[in-house]
Amino acid sequence: MHLQSKQQCVITPETRRLLVTHLYRVFPEEGCGALLGSRTEDGWIIDHFQPIRNTASNPQHKFTLDPTGWITSSFNPRLLGIFHTHPTSSPEPSAEDLLQLQLFGEMVPLYLIASRTTIDGEPDAQIGAYTVHRQPNGLFTLEPLTLA
Ligand SMILES: [Zn+2]
Repeated sequence: MHLQSKQQCVITPETRRLLVTHLYRVFPEEGCGALLGSRTEDGWIIDHFQPIRNTASNPQHKFTLDPTGWITSSFNPRLLGIFHTHPTSSPEPSAEDLLQLQLFGEMVPLYLIASRTTIDGEPDAQIGAYTVHRQPNGLFTLEPLTLA
């Protein structure tokens, strides 16, 4: 029997903790940053998060990666993805997110969003993970990915 291979994304527990901490630290603003790691045979392993300042004029509703921080991360060969938080909504890409994706879709295979939730009464995060794809019309789009 042949099982179709499926891409897998693993996030290390320490990195997940960094994402959750950042989500709560910048609340009620959106937080953002770069996800670092490496490719594996069938996907990716995210093993570090580098927060980047959100320089949007309305950071409670939008994120703009501080250019200085983003340029540094964009030259890192371990750059895998963009991360940002949704302070008050679910971790699904907004119309604005999809517009902005066109700016860096070329550079990253992964896109993660985190929202606040509680697990066993403790503050935690719901993380939405997506892979970046280029459509035939040249526009970048996101497809849901299961985090391991
Ligand atoms: Zn968003």
